[in-house]
Amino acid sequence: MGRSHAILFATALSFSLFAQASPVQAEPAPIIDYCGKKTSGNVRAITAGRCQLTELSLGNQALTRSVKRPTQLVKELNARFLVARVAAQKAGYDINVTSGYRSLKRQKYLFQRAVSRYGSKAEASKWVLPPEKSNHPWGLAIDINYGISGTKARQSAAWLDRNGYKYGLCRRYKNEWWHFEPLVAPGTRCPVLEPYAS
Ligand SMILES: [Zn+2]
Repeated sequence: MGRSHAILFATALSFSLFAQASPVQAEPAPIIDYCGKKTSGNVRAITAGRCQLTELSLGNQALTRSVKRPTQLVKELNARFLVARVAAQKAGYDINVTSGYRSLKRQKYLFQRAVSRYGSKAEASKWVLPPEKSNHPWGLAIDINYGISGTKARQSAAWLDRNGYKYGLCRRYKNEWWHFEPLVAPGTRCPVLEPYAS
């Protein structure tokens, strides 16, 4: 090996050593909550402390059924909707919850009504879930602009379909453009649409 080759070799060796000696990185602190600004609709993650007074706590994961049945919308779901609504307004859209929490009794009534309308429980379940399956009586589902006529109402729900994941809100079923659930942590991609309820 000539002198210049030796230098080249030594240089290459030191480079590869340098590349391998990666600095020790500290584990990133886990996100304990997402905070949504009430005035701007912006969302930020926090790893310590709590959300400010001008923010609402959105939770750091998908919202799931609690042990005890609630009597209203789950607080973080309501917060996700309120923050998303501010962002929607800024984009020129208007989203409204036309049905959120439902009592078991109400869900039972809606299901029975659907059974007589569609002729069977199986067919009815594609549109209204039976009370034990629906997430409305668990305070974990919202219907957006359902029953409000006009294309703008549909376009506004479509805006939420595109942007809801930023707030942890996902449209769930192909056949229900209005139905949203808190299926993911804010900022996480929503699961693929299911064809229909049931
Ligand atoms: Zn619904």
